[in-house]
Amino acid sequence: MDFNLTNFSTSKSGDVEQVRVLIIGSGPAGLTAALYAARADLEPVVLTGMEHGGQVSLTYTVENYPGFPEGIGGQEMVERFQKQAERFGARIEFDSATDVDLSKRPFRIKTYNKEYLAETLIIASGATPRHLNVVGETEFTGRGVSYCATCDGWFFKDKDVYVVGGGDSALEESIFLTRYAKSVTIVHRRDELRAGPILQKRAMENPKINFLYDTVITEIIGKDAVKSVHVKNVKTNEESERPTDGVFVFIGHDPNTQLFRGQLDMDERGYIKVDQLMKTNVPGVFVGGEAGDPNFRQVITSAGMGAAAAMQAGHFLDEHVGYVS
Ligand code: NAP
Repeated sequence: MDFNLTNFSTSKSGDVEQVRVLIIGSGPAGLTAALYAARADLEPVVLTGMEHGGQVSLTYTVENYPGFPEGIGGQEMVERFQKQAERFGARIEFDSATDVDLSKRPFRIKTYNKEYLAETLIIASGATPRHLNVVGETEFTGRGVSYCATCDGWFFKDKDVYVVGGGDSALEESIFLTRYAKSVTIVHRRDELRAGPILQKRAMENPKINFLYDTVITEIIGKDAVKSVHVKNVKTNEESERPTDGVFVFIGHDPNTQLFRGQLDMDERGYIKVDQLMKTNVPGVFVGGEAGDPNFRQVITSAGMGAAAAMQAGHFLDEHVGYVS
C-alpha cells in the first residue's frame, strides 16, 4: 500500500483504513481523547470495544465529577462525552481491536470488521473487574453472582446479599444495593476497610449494612441460583455456611492490556508503563485512563489522561508526520 507519511490524511481503501489517530476504548479517557483530537482536526476514530462507555456507564451516579453538583448518571455522562466528541468530527465505531502490530508505523490494528493503519494510537481500553476465583463463582455468574450493582441490584429486591471487598467500590455499591436489598453483608478479608472515611461513615450508618471482617468466601453454593456461601475467618480458621441470595464482588480490577503484551512495557500487574506525557515505550503510542493508571482510576483523572494523550498525539503528528492542523 502506498503510504505517504508527509501528506497523511484519513482515507479508506477496501477493508483497510488509514487514520491519523485511532483510539481504542470508549470510556471517559477514550471519548475525551476523541474530543481533543477532533477539535485539533485529526479526525479520530474510536473503537468502542465490547463495553461501550466503559465501566462508568454502569455506575448509577457520579458525584465527584466537577460541574455536576447534583451528580450525574454514568450512562448519561458518557452519552454526553460522546455527543461532544462527535460534534467536532470524531467517528465512533462499534468494533473491537483483535490484533495489533506496533513494530513499525503506521501501526496495524485489526478489528472484527476491518484493518486500520494508524499513524498514532491512543490506548484507552480500561480495566475489568477482578474475580474471586472460588468454587461456584463462574457457575452462578448471572444467577446470583454479579460484578455490577447498577446492572443487577434490582433483581435483589427484599433479598439478602453479600458484598466482597473493603474498598470504595464495595462500600459505594453496598450503599446503592440497600435501595433494593433487605440486608447487605460486607465481607472483608481484613479488620480495617480500605475505603475513604466518607463512604465508611455512610456505610456504617446504614441500618441495612452489616460487616463481616477477617473473613473470606471460599465457596458459593446453590442449585438454580445462589443459596449460600461458605466463609472462613482468616484469623480463627473458623468456617461456616451462611444463607444468601446473591454475591456481589468488588475486589479491584485488572487492566485490559493483554492485546499489547510483548509490544509495550508493562508493570507486573499488566498496567502499561506511561510517562507524564502519556507516552509509552513505542513512539506514537499513548495511553489514557485505567490501562495505564493503577492509582487514581477516577472519571476525572481518566478524562484528563485522555485529553493529554490526544494533545501528545497531535504534537507527535506535527513532529514526525509533518501534519499541521
Ligand atoms: P481497591 O481500592 O483496590 O479495593 C479492593 C478491595 O478488595 C480491598 O479492600 C481488598 O482488600 C479487597 N480484595 C482484593 N482482592 C481480594 C480477594 N482476592 N479476596 C477478597 N478481597 C480482596 O478497589 P476499588 O474499591 O475497586 O477501588 C479502586 C479505585 O477506584 C480506588 O482508587 C478507589 O478510591 C477508586 N474508587 C473511588 C470511588 C469514589 O471516590 N466514589 C468509588 C469507587 C472506586 P485489602 O484492603 O485487604 O487489600
